[in-house]
Amino acid sequence: MSNDLKYLSAYSPSVQSQVQQMLAQKTLSKYLLGKYPTSHNISNDKMLRDYVVTLKNHYLKKSAPLSQIKFDDKIHIINNALGLHTYVSRVQGNKLKSKNELRVASLFKNTPDAFLNMIVVHELAHLKEKQHNKAFYQLCQHMMNDYHQVELDLRIYLTQIDAFGTIY
Ligand SMILES: [Zn+2]
Repeated sequence: MSNDLKYLSAYSPSVQSQVQQMLAQKTLSKYLLGKYPTSHNISNDKMLRDYVVTLKNHYLKKSAPLSQIKFDDKIHIINNALGLHTYVSRVQGNKLKSKNELRVASLFKNTPDAFLNMIVVHELAHLKEKQHNKAFYQLCQHMMNDYHQVELDLRIYLTQIDAFGTIY
């Protein structure tokens, strides 16, 4: 696997080769802008909090309240939202402080709504399921029908950013 496809290592060879081809032909941005033409307007922590609380109240009303909801410049996307989660160790290592925080990498200030939605759904699902197991992904899909497709497209977008920069 080429390092260009590091965000897609869990996907099939056929998906990887399609993305590799788009990368080589420089058509990733066209693909992404065709599906997700515009960015959302959630640009600060207060707007993010409203966005998250609305989703949480709709799907996970009974789970514990979130003490802090914010964008975070220091979060590295791949460690926190894309399968190599630090949630468990963070909770174990600093139980009281970090238990009910929901942080979103600042990268998501300027993405299509679908990508922000997917990350927030992912983080909210961790309120109930700590591990990335079947129940976790079922909950994600319950909150967002096309969760898996959007996660793939987000990973394609990260591939685009690394190669050519942001497009929104
Ligand atoms: Zn996770």
